[in-house]
Amino acid sequence: MYFVANWKMFGDLKGLNSLNDVIKFAMKNKRKNFKVIYCPPSTLIFPLFKKFKNTPIDLGGQNSHESENYGPYTGSINSKMLMDVGAKYLILGHSENRQSGENDRLINLKIKSALKIGLKIIFCIGETLKEKQNNKTNQILSNQIKIGLNGIKNKSKIIIAYEPVWSIGTGLIPKLSDLNSLILFIKKKFKNKSQKILYGGSVNENNINQLKTINSVDGFLVGAASQDAKKFIDIIKKTYN
Ligand code: PEP
Repeated sequence: MYFVANWKMFGDLKGLNSLNDVIKFAMKNKRKNFKVIYCPPSTLIFPLFKKFKNTPIDLGGQNSHESENYGPYTGSINSKMLMDVGAKYLILGHSENRQSGENDRLINLKIKSALKIGLKIIFCIGETLKEKQNNKTNQILSNQIKIGLNGIKNKSKIIIAYEPVWSIGTGLIPKLSDLNSLILFIKKKFKNKSQKILYGGSVNENNINQLKTINSVDGFLVGAASQDAKKFIDIIKKTYN
């Protein structure tokens, strides 16, 4: 199982000490079959890279520019730069970035560029509330996958994160039966039957007991609750209890 912490635009150097407990927990449970990946703001990747050295915890970025070369793109960071400071993974297609203008074609370019550099991708897909109410969920997910992964033959370095937009940051989670069917619907789109699919959207230490009953899910992408080390550890612990 994957447990991915998406810190979004939160976090500073002095707050990193709170991760000592996560390190202890991950070291103690090294043999268990789970992978913890922290995706902090880019400013914290290198400090965390040093902190997580010799631990099983990996790091990821939250977005990147589509060019794998340096260039005159003020304010941007590319995959090569993220990898240089210690990232192994990269979240792409997050709905917060889609809402500020990223479309499937641009996400496709970003995925290709990051794969070329050698990052593993956490590719976010999900429908808005309006799309759900109009029964468009399957169509939206299909399109996001089709365009986002267009031209990418080898999908072994891609993890899908199904994140309904209406669930992110709202405290709402899908009905478990809907979630199970959607994860299976997404899995069917891939030739490789072991394609990893995560769920993200308001996962917390209270609802994890329900969410973990979804057999088809390969892990969780956690936003707000991942900023609190204790809550994040609780989510992992409860998944296995
Ligand atoms: C996210 O933004 O990826 C996310 C899952 O957020 P939250 O857990 O806060 O809903």
